[in-house]
Amino acid sequence: MSTTTARTGVRAAVAEPTSTDSTQTARILQGSPIAGAMRARVTEDVVAFRQRHGFAPTLAVVMVGRDAPSAVYLQQIIRGCVKVGVEGRVVEVPEGADAREIQRQIRSLNDDPLVSGIIIQMPLPAHIPLRVIIDTIDPGKDIDGIHPINAGLLSLGYDGFLPATAHAAVQILRASGYDLEGLDAVVIGRSNVVGKPTGLLLLREHCTVTVCHRRTRDLAAQTRRADLVVVAAGSPGLVRGDMLKPGALVVDVGINVVEDGIVGDVDFESAKTVAGAITPVPGGVGPVTNAILMEHLIRAARDQHG
Ligand code: ADP
Repeated sequence: MSTTTARTGVRAAVAEPTSTDSTQTARILQGSPIAGAMRARVTEDVVAFRQRHGFAPTLAVVMVGRDAPSAVYLQQIIRGCVKVGVEGRVVEVPEGADAREIQRQIRSLNDDPLVSGIIIQMPLPAHIPLRVIIDTIDPGKDIDGIHPINAGLLSLGYDGFLPATAHAAVQILRASGYDLEGLDAVVIGRSNVVGKPTGLLLLREHCTVTVCHRRTRDLAAQTRRADLVVVAAGSPGLVRGDMLKPGALVVDVGINVVEDGIVGDVDFESAKTVAGAITPVPGGVGPVTNAILMEHLIRAARDQHG
């Protein structure tokens, strides 16, 4: 059954190429149109929320110190807020601050009725214990799903806030029309923010899931048998075309800053000649993640204000 579903997906992908490049077989799954449609819905919801409650929800982003990749990501989030009509508030904490000071800032955001969602910019400085910070966030405002309560709800299959990137990795496939039921899925990466939750979400989609990581013995042997490969390893060029099954769906979650700009974890040029569909970097999962944060924010606001 899984093979049939996979083949159906592959045929659909090959039948609808979006580029005229003759060497290309893969359908390129652009995130922007999907994100745009999501944002249009959120914008309407924000208007309705504002009419009912007299204010627009606020997303607070806590940033400890300043590092360049983090700052770029932050700008994108704030731009996303502007697009849907919510407030984006950056809470800057000095690099040298201790965990208690960061906790104090988070608690004051927890208590602020105008703030509906809280994100902590990662990575935190090495001297800050991550667990202590995560535990401090109100789970109802944890719109990036990092609190243990939300992680637990996900693993039990209950409704909570999903980690936005993992949610986006699955959503980009669903919104592109793929039925994932029965697919053999390989996730590369087992981080708490991306790999692990993506594996759980794919189980929810009825995939047969294998999660690979740095100690996986033969990564290529795993990916070559997969109908769906989701890569979240933070390693440019990790997955090449010769590691893929022809027609496979490939979702590249990697965002790596290299000399030429930003690249994913998949070697796009070789992969697109083998895959059935592939997400580009930049422009694939990233924009969808951003829009999903906005969806989570308006949902949090509604939950908090009835
Ligand atoms: P992210 O936040 O993108 O998930 P992390 O650095 O937290 O990134 O985690 C990277 C994950 O990718 C780890 O689980 C690690 O085991 C996995 N990984 C990194 N390099 C490889 C590799 N060469 N092969 C397989 N898995 C890898």
